[in-house]
Amino acid sequence: MSELVNIAELFGKNVFNESVMRERLPKSVFKKLKQTIEDGTELDPSIADVVAHAMKDWAIERGATHYTHWFQPLTGITAEKHDSFISVPGHDGKIIMEFSGKELIKGESDASSFPSGGLRATFEARGYTAWDCTSPAFLREDAIGVTLCIPTAFCSYKGEALDQKTPLLRSMQAIDTQALRILRLFGNTNSKRVVPSVGPEQEYFLVDREKYLKRKDLIYTGRTLFGAMPPKGQELDDHYYGVIRERIGSFMNEVNRELWKLGVTAKTQHNEVAPAQHELAPIYTQANLAVDHNQMIMETLKKVAGRHGLTCLLHEKPFAGVNGSGKHNNWSLVTDDGINMMNPGDTPHENVQFLLVLACILKAVDVHADLLRESASDVGNDYRLGGNEAPPAIISVFLGDQLEDVIDQLCNTGEATHSKQGGTLKTGVATLPDLDQDVTDRNRTSPFAFTNNKFEFRMVGSSDSIASSNVVLNTIVAEAFKEAADILEKAEDFDMAVHDLVKTLFTEHRRIVFNGNGYSKSWLKEAERRGLPNITCMVEAIPALTTDKAVKLFETFHVFTRAELKSRAEVEYEAYAKVINIEARAMTNIAGKQIIPAVIRYTTRLADSIGKITGVCPEADFSVQKELLLETSDLLSEMKTALAELIDLSENCKMIVDAKERALACHSQVVPAMERLRRPADILERIVDKDLWPFPSYGDLLFEV
Ligand code: ADP
Ligand code: MG
Repeated sequence: MSELVNIAELFGKNVFNESVMRERLPKSVFKKLKQTIEDGTELDPSIADVVAHAMKDWAIERGATHYTHWFQPLTGITAEKHDSFISVPGHDGKIIMEFSGKELIKGESDASSFPSGGLRATFEARGYTAWDCTSPAFLREDAIGVTLCIPTAFCSYKGEALDQKTPLLRSMQAIDTQALRILRLFGNTNSKRVVPSVGPEQEYFLVDREKYLKRKDLIYTGRTLFGAMPPKGQELDDHYYGVIRERIGSFMNEVNRELWKLGVTAKTQHNEVAPAQHELAPIYTQANLAVDHNQMIMETLKKVAGRHGLTCLLHEKPFAGVNGSGKHNNWSLVTDDGINMMNPGDTPHENVQFLLVLACILKAVDVHADLLRESASDVGNDYRLGGNEAPPAIISVFLGDQLEDVIDQLCNTGEATHSKQGGTLKTGVATLPDLDQDVTDRNRTSPFAFTNNKFEFRMVGSSDSIASSNVVLNTIVAEAFKEAADILEKAEDFDMAVHDLVKTLFTEHRRIVFNGNGYSKSWLKEAERRGLPNITCMVEAIPALTTDKAVKLFETFHVFTRAELKSRAEVEYEAYAKVINIEARAMTNIAGKQIIPAVIRYTTRLADSIGKITGVCPEADFSVQKELLLETSDLLSEMKTALAELIDLSENCKMIVDAKERALACHSQVVPAMERLRRPADILERIVDKDLWPFPSYGDLLFEV
């Protein structure tokens, strides 16, 4: 039995949150800080020393020895450099603990080893981290001890963003300004801020650590590069929502407790579709915090897994032929006084403000589908998107029957007069209550689905930061709001103008709406007919970042400069080529040093047995052994050829100087060569004796956790 847990006592225990600040800061300082956090006003540097002092005392009382500026460079993960609180010893040889306002607000670090995509030459190594007081500091407890983590943004010497947080915060300002304009048009004078709310659902796999350590591919690349399908996959649908086994349950229990202490609202946990796959979802919160919390969730999953003899795989496609992992990014816009702008109400046809918001979102997604697609690109997601499980690579919006019908009415007759209502769900059992039916069913195949009062962007990869997707969502919708507000603020007859605008926007952009099966072949054709882009891979997605359209968008809202966009594209091309190269090298290594020698041992065993049989009993039938020997030898030589080819191709690609050219060559040459090497190896795995195969199989990894 696990110990009893009191969530209320545990929750936020390690967070320098509002109640701690209220208790420990002088009233005036607390008020000023709260103003910055809640109203987005500039931080008054004169309060920094006081806040730092209080933060340090609080942290040290809880056993902290170090502090760190915790930031999110363009590696997709977080970075930190720890400093202890100790200062130079005095004459008495005693040290005092110090942490100044300056140290809280600004850190200087050598940025030259983080990706910058040419924004900063290696000789201009200075990078700065700046305190983001809208995301509270927290204490991390682990084997290192207790560390005070201060969420920060990371910029170059000239102020260019080198991280995920800076553009996110900029995009939140943009959507705040433009969404308020929309609200004011409808007579709302109370709301002071509009904040994007985000609730990301995190999928992951858990495998046994001992077995993991026997798989070089998992160790080096996070995914299996070889592996035959086991006799059983996910066809029985017996894992999804299945009973959580004890070993996994005890892992989840500890993950939850760790997260609650960090103020992360871990809420939902369940088994996912694939064997050994699970999901964790927190309650939604403001975008910046949600992004930070998601990083903390990923870190915690990995760390706690180790304590349970498990390894957590966050890769998007750890196992070929088995469901991959994503991160559904639930997104809505909520005012400081609690109004969700995406709430359609019971009769959306009468809710003009909602219809305008919806029309603007459709426009934003239609016009910038390429950017949204790009924001969900990472190397691992290339193996997932477009497969028969994750959303397809084509961006479309699912609205459901009710909203689609309202749009139909508006576009066809010029007026929407009614909203379809959900009926009652009759269970046919007298003792069960009748349930209200939702007005629309779900659609699991849509990449961008409206679900009650939020949009769910389902393309993001499980290992990726959700920052870029939210940056794009915030900014493209800010643009559509701005264009609408520019027209409507000038209108003489507002009612008429808004009606016309909504109708025009729906008519122009309804091609992006698709309620059908996103996995079907016919959708590919239909999408092409509608002129929707089908961007199948990361290297094709990256150019979206630097089109004139994108530069204009991001520069208008001060989210990215042209130079920052170019640098991000460069970073992504470089990352792509690097990852593919590591995969290719891991593959050649495993094939050459593990698989081929094992197959040779197997063929030798076969040949020996044939020799022995003919010696003992020349008339015996050894055709099976002979056939196996022939088949195996053929596959072995196919492997050898593919191996040589892969080595050649990846060496050649590495020589290409231009990052984009290199990435393109990796995609078009190295990736197919990897597939050619894998094919014979996976067939061989089914033939060769289990005791000779050099590492655990898919079956061992997926079913014996
Ligand atoms: P579903 O099962 O339809 O995917 P859930 O209610 O389980 O939806 O929520 C999934 C995630 O969406 C959770 O993280 C939840 O907190 C988040 N969520 C719910 N409402 C909103 C909202 N208005 N804005 C953003 N996220 C939301
Ligand atoms: Mg969901």
